[in-house]
Amino acid sequence: MDDVDMTAALPADDHVHTQWSWDTALGDMAATCARALELGLPAVSFTEHADFAEVSVPAEASLPEHWAAYRHGNVIAPPPLDVDGYLQSVAECRERFPGLRIRTGVELSEPHQHAGEASALLASATFERRLASVHSTHVPGIGWSDVAVAMALEDPRSVVRDYLREVASLAAGFDGFSVLAHIDYPIRHWPDTLPPYDPTDFEDEHRDALRALVRNGKVLEVNTRVPLHPVVLAWWREEGGDAITFASDAHRPDALAAGFAEAAAVARAAGFRGGDSPADLWRRD
Ligand SMILES: [Zn+2]
Ligand SMILES: [Zn+2]
Repeated sequence: MDDVDMTAALPADDHVHTQWSWDTALGDMAATCARALELGLPAVSFTEHADFAEVSVPAEASLPEHWAAYRHGNVIAPPPLDVDGYLQSVAECRERFPGLRIRTGVELSEPHQHAGEASALLASATFERRLASVHSTHVPGIGWSDVAVAMALEDPRSVVRDYLREVASLAAGFDGFSVLAHIDYPIRHWPDTLPPYDPTDFEDEHRDALRALVRNGKVLEVNTRVPLHPVVLAWWREEGGDAITFASDAHRPDALAAGFAEAAAVARAAGFRGGDSPADLWRRD
């Protein structure tokens, strides 16, 4: 992108994982805080995983080595979030890095399907950024699996459609969260064998999901892992979406705020601006 102002202030990174997320190998909250100060980020939100369901993996799947402790045959059973240990780390980092705004948070997997557990977790501590995600889906012959498995084994186009329908169900079915994470999660696994992914092929499904989020007062996340296609932000604005966050979804310190200058430029072009405090949500102009 040519028109990225690399000197403009970066937004807060509102979706970051550390050693308190079970799936990280190199997560490190203190090193992430040091990196945030180095980058001049106004705030960082540590949104650790709260995964409530076991997921199946194909027998031949090769998984990261550090997941072995949670693998039982073809099933991965994520451990519960250690809320006390996590909050202790946050307190230590706030003490050690007083110049950085450090927010608590959590990333809830499919909380609409586990409303009791999700609500109990949210009631157990103050989570300043409450993210909800769809990560998994039912894959015939395998079972409840990460969307990556579905993308590999099924028609990716129907996986994307089903994913967006599930996002709409999540928005309508669970009120305890504030930010919808990575609406483009399946696109991380879009196959090279198909023509390049084009969100306009799924415009109706996107708009349905975005409307459900607007109706329920949610915030849309601009996740930079793919990164989010500008047209989705345009639809968000058209459907009445008011606020956005930025998210590297980093699982290691050096991935913090990756792609943020570019994402901020895209968001500005789509009609969104930072608030009075640079740590705040961005809102429509
Ligand atoms: Zn996620
Ligand atoms: Zn995440």
